[in-house]
Amino acid sequence: MPVSPTLAISQEIARRRAAGLDTVALGFGEASIPVHPELVRRLAQSAHRGDYGPVAGAPELLEAVAGYWTRRGVATTAAEVVCGPGSKPLLYALFQALGGPVLLPRPCWVSYAAQAALLGHEALLVPTLPGHGGVPDPERLSAEAARLRAEGRPATTVLVTLPDNPTGTVAAPDVISELCAVAEEHDLAIISDEIYLDLVHGDTEVLTPAEVLADRTITTTGLSKSLALGGWRIGAARIPERHEAVRRQVTVAASEIWSAPAQPVQQVAAWAFTEPPELAPHVEASRALHGRIARTVAGIFTAAGAEVAPPTAGFYLYPDFAGRRDELAASGIGTSADLARVLLDQHGVATLPGVAFGDLPERLALRVAPPMLYGRDDDQRWQALASKT
Ligand code: PLP
Repeated sequence: MPVSPTLAISQEIARRRAAGLDTVALGFGEASIPVHPELVRRLAQSAHRGDYGPVAGAPELLEAVAGYWTRRGVATTAAEVVCGPGSKPLLYALFQALGGPVLLPRPCWVSYAAQAALLGHEALLVPTLPGHGGVPDPERLSAEAARLRAEGRPATTVLVTLPDNPTGTVAAPDVISELCAVAEEHDLAIISDEIYLDLVHGDTEVLTPAEVLADRTITTTGLSKSLALGGWRIGAARIPERHEAVRRQVTVAASEIWSAPAQPVQQVAAWAFTEPPELAPHVEASRALHGRIARTVAGIFTAAGAEVAPPTAGFYLYPDFAGRRDELAASGIGTSADLARVLLDQHGVATLPGVAFGDLPERLALRVAPPMLYGRDDDQRWQALASKT
């Protein structure tokens, strides 16, 4: 298998820049806000914690994460929470524990299908409804689940990304309700990847599957996006009582693979998951800025003839150049991979082709991660921008 396309594009950007080629980096998506100084101070204070600690996470962290979900309308106990070094390895352990086949939205984040492939599980992509990225169209999901059952290999799981990567949209509450009904009808576990939940721009209404089906839904989250702590590697899963065997299995995987998240990071995360007032303006400013930048970049792509669902959360956009298909075909561009390659090679603009997200190759869509307008380490510039929002 190739390395993850998101990492590959970063390497290609670095290679081009080292060769002196001007490159606009719209490939790898990352919150480029600075790490809040109080988080840095607390991490330094916890650096003496060299012990491994409990596999699923320190008790104060599990309590804090349970509180985080309970405040969002999903009653959660500390016993239902498993923490890990990012939500990515937790998702892998969940896929392993739940088994296949797994039903994914199309398009979807690059790693789900790759993780399923590493596990030797079948992953089937179910198209999403326009503007409701990250959630398989409930009608088609039902048909696919029925087909698999009839073939004697019933799906175990449906995954949703709420809000979505790559489209930057949030599926509407009625779509979530319908999805939950289909999951019940076909006895599917729901994994809801909510890593972008705290980056919903404006007042978009969000209903999470766990609010509808608390016992059937396994939710994952982390601090990588809302607090720009991807490199700290801390994530959490809520695995309710109904899935107790899955929780046990994830804990076994954790104990045999990563042992526990880094203890100093856990100590700080235990504070951050309580959502202290010190951090609230930081997250709020990040949300507002990401929203403004995404809307501006969406406008640029619209002016270039692409169709773009208005971005409502997270960092990403998913412009589709279907409207310029004939003109592009005349230049030898017939797939999203062609389009991304020409944009990079001839115009120095790095994006990711829709096909990397499991989309049909001939769909001329690109995943665009708008750049932040200030450096990750440029605290002064951040303060100036944040104070204006
Ligand atoms: N889920 C989605 C949809 C993502 O885009 C990402 C990061 O790119 C992750 C999960 C992984 O996040 P973490 O840093 O918690 O492993």
